[in-house]
Amino acid sequence: MTFKCPDIPSHEGFAAPVLPNGDPASSGGAFTKTFVGYQAGCSCGWTDQRRFPPTAEGAKETEYRWWSRHAAPLIAAAPPGELVTKSNLLCERIVKLAAERPLAALTLLSQMESWQRTLLDQVVAGAREAGASWTQVGEAMGISKQSAHERFRGHVST
Ligand SMILES: [Zn+2]
Repeated sequence: MTFKCPDIPSHEGFAAPVLPNGDPASSGGAFTKTFVGYQAGCSCGWTDQRRFPPTAEGAKETEYRWWSRHAAPLIAAAPPGELVTKSNLLCERIVKLAAERPLAALTLLSQMESWQRTLLDQVVAGAREAGASWTQVGEAMGISKQSAHERFRGHVST
């Protein structure tokens, strides 16, 4: 049994049986009858520190731990899956439009660029006011802390 959330598709949680030597057995590995407990794990490599009893309740506890300790913070930082799908769809449509009517695609892209730039400044300012560090802003944008700071310091008060 695995735990999943559509907003973080690259993360799949599982209850890893803990072997007598203390190592968690990997999700895909052969199941052992000699396990001594359960530990929450994730396909990304994350492992919970806490061990639960080798019972059905113990396995259930690991699911809760995966959600609360690992998935919840990731989901909070992930855009809603529905919006990601729409954004990808929009991109595909514009690529198609550009092949058929390049000038129309250019008009649309420059309109998007102007609201996107304004929105980006506002959202970075909002995130900073809400206490986000430059490291977190950079991570959310897939750029370094230095790049984020250099790009936005003129537009954001802090
Ligand atoms: Zn994960």
